[in-house]
Amino acid sequence: MNTSVLLPNTADEAVYMLQRHEGKILAGGTDLLIELRKENKKCEYFIDINNIMELKRIEISGDTLRLGCAVTFADIINNSYIRDNIPALWEAAFRMGACQIQNRATIGGNICNAAPAADSIPILMVLGAICILRGTAGQRKLLIKEFIIGNGKTRLEAGEILEAIEFDNLKAGEVCGFAKLGKRNALSISTITCAVKLVILENMIAECYLCTGSLGSKACRESNTEGYLKGKPVLKIGEYIEEAAAVLSQEVEQRLSTRPSIIYKKVAVKGVFKEAFNKAIGHFI
Ligand SMILES: Cc1cc2nc3c(=O)[nH]c(=O)nc-3n(C[C@H](O)[C@H](O)[C@H](O)COP(=O)(O)OP(=O)(O)OC[C@H]3O[C@@H](n4cnc5c(N)ncnc54)[C@H](O)[C@@H]3O)c2cc1C
Repeated sequence: MNTSVLLPNTADEAVYMLQRHEGKILAGGTDLLIELRKENKKCEYFIDINNIMELKRIEISGDTLRLGCAVTFADIINNSYIRDNIPALWEAAFRMGACQIQNRATIGGNICNAAPAADSIPILMVLGAICILRGTAGQRKLLIKEFIIGNGKTRLEAGEILEAIEFDNLKAGEVCGFAKLGKRNALSISTITCAVKLVILENMIAECYLCTGSLGSKACRESNTEGYLKGKPVLKIGEYIEEAAAVLSQEVEQRLSTRPSIIYKKVAVKGVFKEAFNKAIGHFI
């Protein structure tokens, strides 16, 4: 079977082509091509979205930041607004793959591939990101935590594309941190990731959003640890960080009790969490 590459110029055209042809969206190809090769599969049509300028934009308007699905990790790294205002997202992009991969891989591909180790997902989860989907019936929106349902599984329907991701900019008193443990710095798929968002009011943690990656079939909000941290005084971190790490370790162990890797992961997660949490607090102080 020969493969044809279709090059739509707009998101609507991409949706139209997806409806008409038995094809797959091709963004950076860093997951798709490897998967097709590994499974010795062929695809009759690639619908290559790299010509669609509206999908390659990073837009900051008012309180909202919008990432087009074809924004690459290199685009995020090179964006000074993200580097200065949402450093945890910048770091997640910076720690993702080597620069050859960062230059090709897109944020939309990372989300749609829905790997448990996808580096962008935990930070987008704590930011409360919304996935904007486009099909023939128009647009619909889903929180990223609803969009991703399992390892490689999303709520994307046939003929639909992920058009963009949107979230609110951080406000005064809101800080984030990200940490990643991988086998080799920069080149590896992560073993554990952790993202934290804190809402701080009068030096107390008023809200805590904590999400881990690679610790289950999908990125997971850790609600027991979030509850433990709520109400804690920011400046007395030394008094409770070890206990918080222990709560998280226990929460992860309960979820993954049957996996052999839990022996290592229940210990390692403590260090990854402390690094992410310390970075978040560091942005406040
Ligand atoms: C050497 C190497 C290192 C890597 N390291 C990391 C790492 O450290 N961290 C990490 O998270 N990942 C890593 N990856 C995985 C991969 O690079 C990322 O998941 C990447 O973000 C995928 O994006 P892409 O644009 O290449 O997607 P593609 O491969 O083009 O697409 C992936 C899947 O999503 C679908 N798709 C893509 N965009 C859309 C859209 N807009 N709408 C609907 N469907 C869509 C495609 O049809 C396909 O099924 C690595 C991969 C390699 C090869």
